[in-house]
Amino acid sequence: MCGIVGYVGDRDCADVLVDALSKLEYRGYDSAGIAVVEKGVIKVEKCKGRLANLVDKMAVDGKPQGHCGIGHTRWATHGEPNDVNAHPHLSQHGDVALVHNGIVENYIELRDFLTEQGYSFMSETDTEIAANLVEHLYRSNREDGPEAATREALSLISGAFALGIIFADHP
Ligand code: GLU
Repeated sequence: MCGIVGYVGDRDCADVLVDALSKLEYRGYDSAGIAVVEKGVIKVEKCKGRLANLVDKMAVDGKPQGHCGIGHTRWATHGEPNDVNAHPHLSQHGDVALVHNGIVENYIELRDFLTEQGYSFMSETDTEIAANLVEHLYRSNREDGPEAATREALSLISGAFALGIIFADHP
């Protein structure tokens, strides 16, 4: 069963997220990742396997620096456990990162719609469709803000799920 965490505040976000994910490890998972808004750009670090692998990876890549972020431990339903399918998923233009627990049941229909809008997909997950749907709706009506785009996306997605979402321009 996957774990979702999120943080906004004064502390170093990456550390808070990793610490929070470590408290959810007992639930079982196949990969782990975090996304942090760093100076208006969403940085994603994720990998297959234990949370310790993610910590090791960030020791090499550098930890994303920022005060707003999300984290996830995945239990795969759509696509094998690997680095690309791990969450968070970044939208095509980098506006949105999203973590997800559950299943987007109508993801094939939504993928076809987004493909017509010029989107392509890197992972095998249902989750990446949700990230791009939120971004597409946000880009279609940015003045209404992230919440309106999220609400509209939720009205189009069917299934039983929970989402954690961050926006690059709304840390
Ligand atoms: N359906 C999503 C996936 O396979 C989320 C799985 C989960 O709840 O961890 O990536």
